[in-house]
Amino acid sequence: QPELAGDFGTLMVWADEVRRLKVRTNAETPLDCRTAREFGAEGIGLCRTEHMFFDAARITAVRQMILASDEAGRRAALDKLLPEQRADFTEIFEVMAGLPCTIRLLDPPLHEFLPHEESEFEEVAKAAGLDVETLRRRAAELHEFNPMLGHRGCRLGVTYPEIYEMQARAIFEAACDVAEKSGAAPVPEVMIPLVGTRRELELMKNVVDRAAQAVFADKGRTIDYLVGTMIELPRACLRAGEIAEVGEFFSFGTNDLTQTTLGVSRDDAGRFLTTYVEKGIYARDPFVSIDVEGVGELIGIAAERGRATRPDIKLGICGEHGGDPASIAFCEATGLDYVSASPYRVPIARLAAAQAALRAR
Ligand code: PEP
Ligand code: MG
Repeated sequence: QPELAGDFGTLMVWADEVRRLKVRTNAETPLDCRTAREFGAEGIGLCRTEHMFFDAARITAVRQMILASDEAGRRAALDKLLPEQRADFTEIFEVMAGLPCTIRLLDPPLHEFLPHEESEFEEVAKAAGLDVETLRRRAAELHEFNPMLGHRGCRLGVTYPEIYEMQARAIFEAACDVAEKSGAAPVPEVMIPLVGTRRELELMKNVVDRAAQAVFADKGRTIDYLVGTMIELPRACLRAGEIAEVGEFFSFGTNDLTQTTLGVSRDDAGRFLTTYVEKGIYARDPFVSIDVEGVGELIGIAAERGRATRPDIKLGICGEHGGDPASIAFCEATGLDYVSASPYRVPIARLAAAQAALRAR
């Protein structure tokens, strides 16, 4: 841990003594998890499982799953992906050694998974036993004009529950295996993305709970786990009271929450926001520092309503803002439990959390 040695290391020890906010990391590879732990991460706040599906070795099975026209076709592809997902989570749980791991179920803008080249269609056709024309037709059916507001997040899980079932199974099988081998039971926190209504979360929690029960019966052991949700839509903030009847934790996805609250595409934001900041329309780039008056007020509402329903609800933030000192000060003031940042921003988050705690004294 050379970066954290010497005087800087001492400073970090002091910072940890005064900060109240926990600091987790956004990571989905064992290497990132290891790096983040070396920098002092106290858990995973966001494991984006869709990143695991882009792997070159798996993409054909993933495309087969997405393009399948019925459940049997999807299940055939999911059977290929299950052992690989189990291996992913096993490695992560081993590195995280009993620290909490928030694993977010698949949240893919579907277009990112669709094949484009002829050779890609041919590969999927071979794997799925279908002809290229059928697959092309299916890909055309799945086309969306605005995928970021389309069939992503839990909407995918609602229409194809078997995908989330496979992922939940992989999480719990891996957790049981690691608990068996190492004795340090993993602490999975299964997170549902892009929830806007209580019912969506309820449906998805049922899928996760059923998978957990099936795995625990198979393995003859149980693992403590939580099921919670991303809060990344204004509607979810407003309905947080009833969403907390189902969700055991909230993690604020401030990337999407900023996009949906301000009506500004997170992918195109740079184009005019610099001018907006120069002209004093926004105090800071809202995709870097939480827009306290808009997004911040919604987070405050969600925290208050969520706590009114479930006083011990765990509250965190996993958008990019989780590594931004000004946003971390906002998280401290709002009384969140943790922030989650990319591995290399973990030390900054620890310092910023300490500074915010000192200021609040
Ligand atoms: C978010 O929306 O803030 C978030 C963390 O999820 P993602 O960036 O993966 O959409
Ligand atoms: Mg998001």
